[in-house]
Amino acid sequence: MAALSNPSEIAREVLRQLAVRRIPPTPDNYFTLYNEIAEHPPGDEPFPEKQCKSLAAALDRSRPAQQRLARSFDEAIRDKSWERFQNTWKAFCTEASSEPPPWSDLIAELIRQWETHHAGLTPGKKRDSLEHVLSSAGKDPDLLFTRLKGLLTSWNQNADAGGTPLADAPEMAAEDNGADAVAATTAPASADNALVGELRELFAFTLETAVATQLVESPQLVEEARTLASAVRRAQDTKALKKLLDKLKQFAFRLELLADDQRELRTGLLHLLQLLIENVSELVEDDQWLHGQIEMVRDIVTSPLSLRTIDDAEQRIKEVIFKQSQLKHSLSEAQEALKHMLAGFVDHLADFADSTSDYHDKVEACAQRIATANNIADLRAVIDEVMHETRIIQLNAQRSRDELRATQQRVRESEQRVAELQGELDKASTLVRHDQLTGALNRHGLEEAFAKETARTQRRRTSLCLAILDIDNFKKLNDSLGHDAGDAALIHLITVIKNTMRPTDLVARFGGEEFVILLPDTGLEDSTHALQRLQRELTKHYFMHDNQKLLITFSAGVTAYQPGEDQAAAIKRADTAMYEAKRTGKNRVVTA
Ligand code: GH3
Ligand code: MG
Ligand code: MG
Repeated sequence: MAALSNPSEIAREVLRQLAVRRIPPTPDNYFTLYNEIAEHPPGDEPFPEKQCKSLAAALDRSRPAQQRLARSFDEAIRDKSWERFQNTWKAFCTEASSEPPPWSDLIAELIRQWETHHAGLTPGKKRDSLEHVLSSAGKDPDLLFTRLKGLLTSWNQNADAGGTPLADAPEMAAEDNGADAVAATTAPASADNALVGELRELFAFTLETAVATQLVESPQLVEEARTLASAVRRAQDTKALKKLLDKLKQFAFRLELLADDQRELRTGLLHLLQLLIENVSELVEDDQWLHGQIEMVRDIVTSPLSLRTIDDAEQRIKEVIFKQSQLKHSLSEAQEALKHMLAGFVDHLADFADSTSDYHDKVEACAQRIATANNIADLRAVIDEVMHETRIIQLNAQRSRDELRATQQRVRESEQRVAELQGELDKASTLVRHDQLTGALNRHGLEEAFAKETARTQRRRTSLCLAILDIDNFKKLNDSLGHDAGDAALIHLITVIKNTMRPTDLVARFGGEEFVILLPDTGLEDSTHALQRLQRELTKHYFMHDNQKLLITFSAGVTAYQPGEDQAAAIKRADTAMYEAKRTGKNRVVTA
């Protein structure tokens, strides 16, 4: 039978089939038969929200893994996604049936290792590290299991490196033996001594600066790093250094734990931020102008974190917020003025209504006087009065009409201003640092990029180059093909530049058909080659206009940034080189 499409025909057929097939008319049976007759694919059933909610509510949420899965259930119910609900369910069953961590093995191993002698690990140190693990894992049994296992592995490595069971070698004897063995093999040449001295100093320096400055959130570890650094400096012979080794191992272990904690913290924070952004972007669906900012933050939290992207986004958001706060101020002023006008007009209407009802009363009184008038003279006086009142009301009406028109005009103007401001607000979130035609950085964007890149270059002691390029004979192209074709040629050039240069290179529109390119981490020779490669690319990717292939060429000057100089100085040098390229035949790259 061909599928019925009309719902009432399907319903009728369902009832008929229930009777014919002698199926009890329960809601489920009706539903199944309905889908069968309508030939709905089986997946079309509505999401059983109520049932799923009661299932999810009954779940045990005491462990972190269960809490994570419970969140996934809640999201599946919110999105009415049966597939996600099923997958979460499977994961939940796997989690529930998975073997609990082998705690008894771990505890047996802990006892065994506790009683084993480890080179450089006294029972006191073992107790310290164990206590640290117990307190740092909080109430999370899975985390405690992992950390405890890690601790035992690190003890075990000590044992491999020279530990013996306690029964076989008393602690003091073992330490003495170790020291003797080292002393017996110690006969370093003076060159080696110098090298060891240098390494020691470098190591102490690393502890003091690189390590200690990274530990701002843990003053105790900072103190320890500094103490270790001075101990490293004091330890002048192998024996002293060996003694220090134990302390360093402990310190490294605690650093590892701290790094674990910070990693978790960072992941947690990022997750939170992601959630927040998703939520905010749903809330501000109507406010287009916020989208630019949200998109930017979303990009950052979903791609690998780097200082560069965070820095960049911070600058952009600050600028956008500044521009938007100015615009919002004007917008609310315009809206306020609009409200004022409307309120004034409503007052005026009320006055007008009062005066018309006054007029009606007077005309009514005149009508009565006409009815009772006995002579022409009486009538004449009444008619004069009616005429007078009518003229007044006519004038009133005319004035009101004029005012209405003027108000209408002002409202129209204000509405237009509000729309304009709203439009600017939308644009502000994306266009502040970029040139509107080509999407390259504008002069303001270039200044900012220049400041950032030069600071980075000086910090990292890398090289930075700057190139300025000017299209050849652009005026001729504009004059012969028109301004729009000129605009399209500029866009084409920027597209080729962006596709050819490295992603870290930055391009800015410096003037009409002049562009500046910043090449971070690139020497002068490589930069010149990069510009020449760009020239070759332009001979492969023609600019198309009315099905004509047009070759765009440029002349360029390249210079290396000199530490400490400002943007104008670097640009001036590149510009002089660019003019040299123009003077000596165009379509050339000249190095300053
Ligand atoms: P040269 O090879 O010496 O650089 O010659 P040129 O014609 O390129 O140099 P000139 O600086 O005299 O001309 C630049 C022209 O670029 C002038 C101006 O009309 C055009 N121009 C500047 N900005 C724009 C723009 O935004 N769109 C378009 N279509 N043309 C622009
Ligand atoms: Mg020019
Ligand atoms: Mg030019």
